[in-house]
Amino acid sequence: MSFEKLGLRVELLKAVADQGYTEPTPIQTRAIPVILEGHDILAGAQTGTGKTAAFALPIIQILSQDQPVKKKKQPRALVLVPTRELAAQVGKVIQDFGRRVSLRSTVIYGGLNIHAQIARLNRGVDIVVATPGRLLDHVGRKTLDISRVKILVLDEADRMLDLGFLDDILAVASFMPPKHQTLLFSATYPDSIKRLADELLNNPRQIETVRLNLVADGVTQVVYRVEKLRKRELLTALIRKEKWQQVIIFTRTRYGADKLTGQLLKDGISAAAIHSSKSQSIRNRTLEEFKHRSVRVLVATDVAARGLDIHSLPQVVNYDLPEIPENYVHRIGRTGRAGEKGVAISLVCDQEQSLLVEIERLLNQKIPVKRLTGFQPRQNHDPDIIAAKREIREKAAKKQKKATGLSTMRPRKKKKP
Ligand code: AMP
Repeated sequence: MSFEKLGLRVELLKAVADQGYTEPTPIQTRAIPVILEGHDILAGAQTGTGKTAAFALPIIQILSQDQPVKKKKQPRALVLVPTRELAAQVGKVIQDFGRRVSLRSTVIYGGLNIHAQIARLNRGVDIVVATPGRLLDHVGRKTLDISRVKILVLDEADRMLDLGFLDDILAVASFMPPKHQTLLFSATYPDSIKRLADELLNNPRQIETVRLNLVADGVTQVVYRVEKLRKRELLTALIRKEKWQQVIIFTRTRYGADKLTGQLLKDGISAAAIHSSKSQSIRNRTLEEFKHRSVRVLVATDVAARGLDIHSLPQVVNYDLPEIPENYVHRIGRTGRAGEKGVAISLVCDQEQSLLVEIERLLNQKIPVKRLTGFQPRQNHDPDIIAAKREIREKAAKKQKKATGLSTMRPRKKKKP
């Protein structure tokens, strides 16, 4: 399949070629024609699949062929995203493509100067990319009027719901005209997303079922078993042994991110933390340093890392497993992007065993365990952990029994007559 066959206008084909894209990714092949036909879509797509261009290109084409709105402050397309980082990234893609057909776009999110944003909106924009809270702030101040929006995109909708944006999304939808096109993208498909889709989408075309391929094909996953207190040592050993030059490490808490960063620096490994207590400008600067390789290790929490677009990141490490199994999918979506190869490494201690079981259940696969000599955990005699392990084994056995109708116990040997 080529981009030419998708029905895009020549300026956009040139823009795509300038980006170095030679052929559309599967989500682009399926979504672009359907969006151009004006349908609502419910698309299952993780980061790294090319989903941004899958909605940006057809939206830009539709708007470029339509009458511009005369009034300022009235965008014709609105893209809602969960985080500032993702807003900046999506905004950049839209700006790069939109420039070819003289469409104006802007990004609005909290943490940026609101007056600069108002001035930009006053000059007139066609496409707004925004986080839900700041967008509503502008609607409330009447510095933005979304009553003429023709296309609404909910990008990484599952993540927006995780972050508690449901009411904001519904409020935004209530300010929009009754007739509009809605494109919903989500990496995972929990019941909350199904309900949101029922509420907001009108006869949507379903583009891909996410559960078919939660993890990109090129990503190899590995678990290292290790005692909790030795994780940092193992990490440093792996960074040195494997000679990782550019790696993102996920921790569960901001405190954990700062602490680990300090320890890595002590070990002589250049590292920086990115999390929501850091100011936006520091986060942007850290990200740039990481991209340009003056920082080797980026230690991040889930919220801060969401949507980071770093080309060809070869490794991602889960220093702590996430509490929400879906976040594992989001985290390791940082590697193996657009068909490249990547490795996702999880350092798992006994206390995280139940989280690992949940993740493996979500993925419907067992993640292979690797060992590094000298770091195998000692046999654990902690009664709580032994009890927790037993409980997990019993639960799994019960589940299997229910699924197969068979007992997982070995059959008793028949007595010889
Ligand atoms: P996304 O899933 O939108 O975050 O995109 C992930 C990465 O894939 C980005 O770095 C894009 O520049 C890249 N990309 C998007 N579409 C294509 C394509 N058709 N060919 C090659 N790379 C692409």
